[in-house]
Amino acid sequence: MRILIVGPPGAGKGTQAAVLSAELGVVHISTGDMFRAYVDSETELGRQVKAYLDAGALVPDEVTNVMVAQQLTEDVCRAGFLLDGFPRTVGQAEALEALLRDRDCEIDTVLAFDVPEDQVVERLLARGREDDTEDVIRHRQQLYREETAPLLDFYSDRLVTVPAVGSVPDVTARALDALRTRA
Ligand code: ADP
Repeated sequence: MRILIVGPPGAGKGTQAAVLSAELGVVHISTGDMFRAYVDSETELGRQVKAYLDAGALVPDEVTNVMVAQQLTEDVCRAGFLLDGFPRTVGQAEALEALLRDRDCEIDTVLAFDVPEDQVVERLLARGREDDTEDVIRHRQQLYREETAPLLDFYSDRLVTVPAVGSVPDVTARALDALRTRA
């Protein structure tokens, strides 16, 4: 099973991806987590990545695509995976398509997490991660609308919408139901 989760910042992608990947027995690959690990490593690349995260800007594709390609080995392609936070632009989606074509597999299902914008801003302010200040949140939402939302059209043939308002277990149950409709 090869799954993507797409949704605005604060939709609960990371939380659900952790639960769903454990439930489905596939690897959870999160570009946000990878970038935060780089930042913690206090290397030169980490310092560069931190500037993007702090600003709520996208890390350039030449860094992001290489990092994801290293994670998507042939084995991971066979075993299945759940990608969270990638792709975030149509350019990244095209790079992913090409990479998977090389590995002889493709994305089966795209889970589109749907949640009203005022609710996600409230959640992020409550979470209080370092990049969860109001200005940075607003910028990330804008980038989502401009750069990431077009992926919903790009993947329209494999897309299932998951209403992402409610408790964590409720949303998990809806996501699992949505995946069953695709099986
Ligand atoms: P959120 O969904 O709340 O934005 P993430 O953990 O997915 O949180 O991402 C945090 C930050 O990491 C983003 O604001 C961005 O700077 C960077 N990032 C994550 N994924 C990508 C990606 N695919 N391309 C470029 N930058 C990314």
